[in-house]
Amino acid sequence: MSRKALVVADVRHGKLRNVTLEMLGAATKAAEGGEVAVALLGHQVSSLAEGLGKAGADRVYVVDAPELEKYTPGAYRKALMEIYRVFSPELILLAHSAIGKDLAPVISQRLGVGQVSDAIAVELTNGQLQFTRPIYAGKAFTKVVVKSNPVVATIRPNNLAPLAEDAGKAGTVEALSVSFEQQDLATLVQEIIQKASTGVDLTEAKIIVSGGRGVKSEEGFAPLRELAEVLGAAVGASRGACDAGYCDYSMQIGQTGKVVTPDLYIACGISGAIQHLAGMSSSKVIVAINKDPEAPIFQVADYGIVGDLFEVVPLMTAEVKKL
Ligand code: FAD
Repeated sequence: MSRKALVVADVRHGKLRNVTLEMLGAATKAAEGGEVAVALLGHQVSSLAEGLGKAGADRVYVVDAPELEKYTPGAYRKALMEIYRVFSPELILLAHSAIGKDLAPVISQRLGVGQVSDAIAVELTNGQLQFTRPIYAGKAFTKVVVKSNPVVATIRPNNLAPLAEDAGKAGTVEALSVSFEQQDLATLVQEIIQKASTGVDLTEAKIIVSGGRGVKSEEGFAPLRELAEVLGAAVGASRGACDAGYCDYSMQIGQTGKVVTPDLYIACGISGAIQHLAGMSSSKVIVAINKDPEAPIFQVADYGIVGDLFEVVPLMTAEVKKL
């Protein structure tokens, strides 16, 4: 049974995040031949529409307005509801990102429909859409079927295969005009303060070098940053390291931090508490460096190095530089 699917593009600093193409891949499969559209919301984002058409979207609905420059739930809801009115999708996918996590419940509440959060897989079973989502801090998985129409779901970045760009394809682009009223702008984001990092977005990074309390100080992150630089990786941290003041909370990975799924996760001086594992245990390959051979992180690691991170990490950096 074919169905119409709508992907809400995840735009950050004027660029599309990879998760948008990952959602397009899932939406195309779920649509079973039905139309797939992308909702592109923001200010001065129209130039991204053509690429989305080439990337596999049949239609791209653009609402480009100054009111959408910074995310606000009221204005984004209004724009998205207009696209819903025009397209009537049976499935709406958003990224499980800061914006998606906020907007998805706003939309499902407005439509009075069911929502799945943080899905890591979308499958078709007996003609029904079935979502897989982790529970108990990633220790178990549930399969969820939502019977409402439409279904709203947020998708965890870095989990699904992106749709390969089809050069021959050019979906239609339609600009919609939405007028915003004062009540749509009840919540306004005044300023977004960017925290310093290696520049690679943690939730999209293919490689993450992460430090725990074992780095011992703010300066202790320096060898990790050097390794991250040669690997083109992002730098993350445990809450232990953040609480100790060695790094900023924006780097925290885990149950109350960011959830990441890189190809390679290098944990340096991190014990492997369950709350940390909740944020990184789905990484494809995990390397742990810890001087305690009994550290729980070794139970989830594919490769374990028992040793002092201040010796091991510079050696790794030197070896990578030789490649
Ligand atoms: P520690 O547990 O102190 O481990 C440090 C490790 O470094 C040790 O294993 C030690 O052997 C090793 N080490 C020391 N020196 C060296 C060296 N020179 N070389 C190599 N290894 C060395 N934690 C998170 O990370 N993310 C979360 O989101 C999170 N959310 C939480 C939510 C709640 C409600 C609660 C209660 C806790 C949460 N925590 C979270 C905290 C979590 O329980 C742990 O306290 C925390 O993860 C520990 O951080 P750590 O591994 O860096 O520190």
